[in-house]
Amino acid sequence: MIVKGLELGPFASNCYIVGADSGNEGIVIDPGAEADRILSAADDLGLNIKIIALTHGHMDHVGALAEVKKATGAEIAIHADDARSLQARNPFGSIFGGPSQAMPAPDRLLKGGDTIAVGDLHLLVLHTPGHTPGGICLLGEGVVFSGDTLFNLGIGRTDMPGGSYNQLMDSIHTKLLVLPDDTIVYPGHGPETTIAQERQWNPWL
Ligand SMILES: [Zn+2]
Ligand SMILES: [Zn+2]
Repeated sequence: MIVKGLELGPFASNCYIVGADSGNEGIVIDPGAEADRILSAADDLGLNIKIIALTHGHMDHVGALAEVKKATGAEIAIHADDARSLQARNPFGSIFGGPSQAMPAPDRLLKGGDTIAVGDLHLLVLHTPGHTPGGICLLGEGVVFSGDTLFNLGIGRTDMPGGSYNQLMDSIHTKLLVLPDDTIVYPGHGPETTIAQERQWNPWL
């Protein structure tokens, strides 16, 4: 499995470009900003982006969505409970310094238990509400992309609209900490970690 992480934009959000070891189809997770860097990284990896998967609808994870969609024609997938937040952000686009362009509508609404697949690469959708109602983590072989649900020695904030501390804790404990120790966690901000490290050292858990 190919995983290329890029730290993008003023909020230092992590975007991941993911592909199977064979074949040339790829997935972009959270195109938060700087579409040109995302597209050239995908080019360097030789990947045609077929799916843009969003861990949630916050602006720092979707800022380059329109440009990446336009350049690749990839299908946009987001949990149904966060789909509306894409549209809700339109009027505020210019505040974030980018062109105030309309957010493209999602092509696919996800729910927990769904699979996102390109070629031999399969990612299972884990619905992990708490940071946002439609927050998801994406589970691949030995890896999980945790969005703003779980960070290296941190957890997502729950003080924004739709956030819930109790839900976030439940999501982390029942969906993430049950994964094998050596599962690599690729979070929405900051460096990667493992489930074992977070279970042992994360002060919030
Ligand atoms: Zn967020
Ligand atoms: Zn974020």
